[in-house]
Amino acid sequence: MSQKKAKIYKCPSCKEGTTEIKKINYQLKAKGGRKIIIPDLEIEECTHCGERIFGMKAARLIEVHKAHSGRLLVRLKPEVHAQLRELARKHHRSLNQEINFLLETGVDKAS
Ligand SMILES: [Zn+2]
Repeated sequence: MSQKKAKIYKCPSCKEGTTEIKKINYQLKAKGGRKIIIPDLEIEECTHCGERIFGMKAARLIEVHKAHSGRLLVRLKPEVHAQLRELARKHHRSLNQEINFLLETGVDKAS
């Protein structure tokens, strides 16, 4: 099978293994110690030492979450929350994924 394969990189940490693209639920701490989970974050992980390497996209997503998520999730107006939930249901996504998507596309336009 010759599906399009991701580039293989040598791990920068151990120089032994290679990195593999993985999707993880990445947990980070926002201001005030609140825990935020970014679902399905795409990262590369070394098959040898387990070092995690974050690409540009992942890094930016984490930055966006750090900057906004805590507030966003907590201080959504009830009607906005309802709208988002409705959108999420339409797209068959979780509310978090919907917010991720909106944050991501919003950031892309802004930069
Ligand atoms: Zn490694």
